Amino acid sequence: MKGLLLNITGDGKGKSTSAFGMVIRSLGYGRKVRVLQFVKGDFPTGEKAFFRDLKHPLLVFEQTGAGFTWKKDADHCGAASAGWTKVLPVLSGEIPCDLLVLDELNVALHEELLPLDKVLEALKNRTEGLDVVITGRYAPPELLEASDLVSVIENKKHPFDSGTNAKKGIDF
Ligand code: ATP
Ligand code: MG
Repeated sequence: MKGLLLNITGDGKGKSTSAFGMVIRSLGYGRKVRVLQFVKGDFPTGEKAFFRDLKHPLLVFEQTGAGFTWKKDADHCGAASAGWTKVLPVLSGEIPCDLLVLDELNVALHEELLPLDKVLEALKNRTEGLDVVITGRYAPPELLEASDLVSVIENKKHPFDSGTNAKKGIDF
């Protein structure tokens, strides 16, 4: 049976954390999970520390990217392409997986760090049974069109707006 293509987008908080919720649910049922974070570079986060310490045998957690800025340059394109190269054998079924999380792929596509047509084609032709969760702001409309589930998280209020810094354990 065809797996689901899910997209969590919008300008509110809760996209990546929603994806990590599904990672936990899937692992709870013995499903094989892979997470690839696009463009986050080496920024330390609680989830990264947690999954590293957990050493869960069914989870692979990776990051790709050249740091936090989003301008389209050779470094960022190269990092996104390197990330996509890791995704292809998972989509084809060569690397067994039940849930694939592509965190911030929406933004990488929006910034044209990867060719949307190639990404769409590989997602559409993915192996049977593989669920894919894509997160990030600015999801391309074509990708949403191809998705089975789309949630757009709307920002109503965020402490950043009143000058509060990102908080450990809440924001990263
Ligand atoms: P989270 O990882 O907390 O689920 P997210 O994936 O929805 O957040 P991103 O666009 O990936 O959000 O941004 C990551 C960081 O930006 C997080 O620290 C998050 O708290 C913060 N953030 C999310 N939405 C907003 C907003 N509307 N204004 C300011 N900062 C935000
Ligand atoms: Mg996020």
